[in-house]
Amino acid sequence: MSPESANIDPCCSSSSNMLSVEEAIEYLLSRADIKLESESVGLKQALGRVLAKDQSSPVFVPPADNSAMDGYAVNTKDFASGGDKRLPVTQRIPAGTRGKMLVPGTAARIFTGAPVPDGADAIVMQELTEKDGDCVIVKATPRKGDHIRKSGEDICAGDRILSAGQKLRPQELGLAASVGIGELPVYRKLKIAIFSTGDELVTPGNPLGEGQIYNSNLYTLTGMVQALNCDIIDLGTVPDNLDSTKKVLQEAQASADIIVTSGGVSVGEEDYVKAAIEELGSLDMWRVAMKPGKPLAFGRIGDTPFIGLPGNPVSVFVTFCLFARPYILKCQGANNVLPNRYAVKADFDWHKPGPRREFLRAFVELDNLGNTRASIYSHQGSGVLSSAVWANGIVEISNKKPVNVGDMVSFIPFTEIFA
Ligand code: AMP
Ligand code: MG
Repeated sequence: MSPESANIDPCCSSSSNMLSVEEAIEYLLSRADIKLESESVGLKQALGRVLAKDQSSPVFVPPADNSAMDGYAVNTKDFASGGDKRLPVTQRIPAGTRGKMLVPGTAARIFTGAPVPDGADAIVMQELTEKDGDCVIVKATPRKGDHIRKSGEDICAGDRILSAGQKLRPQELGLAASVGIGELPVYRKLKIAIFSTGDELVTPGNPLGEGQIYNSNLYTLTGMVQALNCDIIDLGTVPDNLDSTKKVLQEAQASADIIVTSGGVSVGEEDYVKAAIEELGSLDMWRVAMKPGKPLAFGRIGDTPFIGLPGNPVSVFVTFCLFARPYILKCQGANNVLPNRYAVKADFDWHKPGPRREFLRAFVELDNLGNTRASIYSHQGSGVLSSAVWANGIVEISNKKPVNVGDMVSFIPFTEIFA
């Protein structure tokens, strides 16, 4: 049930006054309604783009029956009597050439990938033969079809090979190439404006003053948006005041498809993003029942959607993975937007679960019995970014349910997020 269909007020949806993680995702996805134009790009430019139209094969792959081995093309009828067989070699067929009709009682020297000549119905691998002048001695009894790759065994002409909404990985590009398609229709790249808010923030490479910290979120966000293959509009760091926040938001709206920010969406009087968006457009503020995370904002300035992530460095990282990523993927036209989760064995105790669902930075590896075991970083604070660097994924712990060593828990590997 979506928060919208249930008439849920994002600020106070449930008895605990918070939105569940699933409700927040569903709410966001129901608003991922950007309609992108498509463009045609060469295969080498198509990696990481989202396919805009189904693709069918114009050809059979392989186009003809061909040899899977270096060896000899023969006719199995010549082997009815069993035992070694001595056959004259009447032709040589390398890959890229076509042989002549195989005369009964003869063999053709053939190489991997070469078309099987008419009249032959099996390939004998070279290792089972011996050369004898112009003849070959075959020391095995071949069966019909041995080592022949049949025409169309991978793809038949007319088969759908790729579907609209697929994110193109190297193997999709290779498959398109294998049927002779040189260009693919893909959705245009999204332009995402990002900025950080906070008077305390200093750009790395400069000295820190009293009470200041380095701006890390801008770099985490940049990396995550780049990993999604979007173009970035980097609007840098914005001071904590209403005018600057409004100005940068107007600039972002003029140039971007989506605006993603970090910080300034809490309820303190130094948090100006909320007030600025409310003046320029509309905003829903949520408290999501999760840790780290909690404050999350979604709004629009004109037609441009806005996602406001929390300020704490780990909260930004986790909420981007859980909320901003699927939203952006859906806006890109992708049809597979949620990461796969895997069941793994906990190698830790979690005896004091809080009222919110926890997303712990975890490291999963195989133990010597072949079980996947999850350890968690010793310090799970929302400011401890080292936890995300140490980890290879996130373990999800239900609220109110303790975990003991050996219990199964749900794990999202980072490879699911950044692949
Ligand atoms: P806020 O949501 O703006 O109140 O920020 C919450 C916490 O996150 C504060 O401790 C901020 O200093 C910190 N923070 C906010 N933005 C950033 C950033 N871009 N890089 C690192 N830390 C930040
Ligand atoms: Mg702040």
